[in-house]
Amino acid sequence: MIVYLLVGGAWILFSDRIVQSLISDINVLTAVQTYKGWFYVLITGILFYVYLKKDLIKIRKAQKKAKESESLKSAFLQNMSHEIRTPMNGIIGFVELLRNENLSKEQRERYMDIILKCSDQLLGVVNDVLDLSLIETGNVKLEKESIHLNKLMDELYLSYSESMKEGVSLEQITKSEELEIVTDAVKLKQLLDNLLSNAGKFTSKGKIEFGFEKQDNALLFFVKDTGVGIKPEQIDKIFNRFERAEIETTKLIGGAGLGLAICKGIVGEMGGKIWVESEFGRGSDFYFNIPFVAASHQKPEEEKEKNDVLIQDDCLLIAEDEDSNYLYLMEILQDLGIEIWRAKNGKEAVEMYQENDKISMILMDIKMPVVDGYEATRRIREFDSQVPIIAQTAFVLGDEKIQALEAGCTDYIPKPFKREEIYNIIRKHQRNHKD
Ligand code: ADP
Repeated sequence: MIVYLLVGGAWILFSDRIVQSLISDINVLTAVQTYKGWFYVLITGILFYVYLKKDLIKIRKAQKKAKESESLKSAFLQNMSHEIRTPMNGIIGFVELLRNENLSKEQRERYMDIILKCSDQLLGVVNDVLDLSLIETGNVKLEKESIHLNKLMDELYLSYSESMKEGVSLEQITKSEELEIVTDAVKLKQLLDNLLSNAGKFTSKGKIEFGFEKQDNALLFFVKDTGVGIKPEQIDKIFNRFERAEIETTKLIGGAGLGLAICKGIVGEMGGKIWVESEFGRGSDFYFNIPFVAASHQKPEEEKEKNDVLIQDDCLLIAEDEDSNYLYLMEILQDLGIEIWRAKNGKEAVEMYQENDKISMILMDIKMPVVDGYEATRRIREFDSQVPIIAQTAFVLGDEKIQALEAGCTDYIPKPFKREEIYNIIRKHQRNHKD
């Protein structure tokens, strides 16, 4: 702008003098002056146009993006509300029905199954939102463990073959010898779960095939279906958060549009890529690859002893301020015949443990009044480095697990947990402690 003003000023000052010194005929001079004026106006116009055009395009693009993101957000909120209300409706409705004393045992069990299924669905939505926020804030932490890949595929086959729609078959096609690899098993399963449940959702006839193939230094996983397919213009978008292909079928099928964005984030963290090849109306083939890291064979995979019972002369201290959480733990643990003590805050937990040498394990809530779980654990560790302390918390977003372990906890279990999960973690530490 300054350059333009300087050049313009110089032009006004000197051009008249130059023209006057060169032309003496007054008519020619007037005509030249007119052309000079037009020339100036034209140049100014062009300069302004070029200068503003760039900014105008930028502003229009930003406006368009803001509008798109607004409508995406409101579509997301609508989907979210639907995804939360649907299972809530099931839970509230069937809990209400359970009040009826005249229900048969079968009816009661069926209702309870529905409530459990709805709760899992609800937890899935919450987990998806948390996962996405971890991905977007760069806080995904990958664990490394040895897993038997073919076993994982078999487990997935078993759990999904039961839930296939009528007219849809599931096939597991693995083009590889038996493989033991090092990876984050939970995340790998989450990826395949997402793709398989999408394939199941969007396929009403034909087949779904899934499996993996070992390539040079990578593993290529695939989930292929003969479902609704994806339009070419939607292919890149579906990996963005909140995006759902706007087709009639999709509108009728539940989902918040987070699954593939989470998959993309996780695969990226694992050092791989995810993509899809699809023909609208014919089906979709989803692929992702991750680096291949072979497991060392010195450490055989640990077999889970599922039916191992707890040693009954144990005494467990539950540090938990919330009555509902405590009652839930009480209910599931009393079947095991172990003695249970309760502390309502961290201070009580430390005192009770000090006074009672029968206590052989502590389930430590983290957010508690007076003294929190981290501090209580630190205080206990000052005089006892052995007793297993298992942190249990509903804070699962940040580095709670690391903090708990740093405070001296032996292990960590995120809430909500199922009966088997709490049994497993207690068994694991009870055994280690007694060995
Ligand atoms: P959600 O399934 O919750 O909508 P996703 O992120 O998992 O969210 O998927 C985003 C969109 O991608 C879906 O809404 C759907 O339009 C499309 N999509 C995903 N998987 C498939 C599939 N197997 N077949 C057809 N469309 C799919």
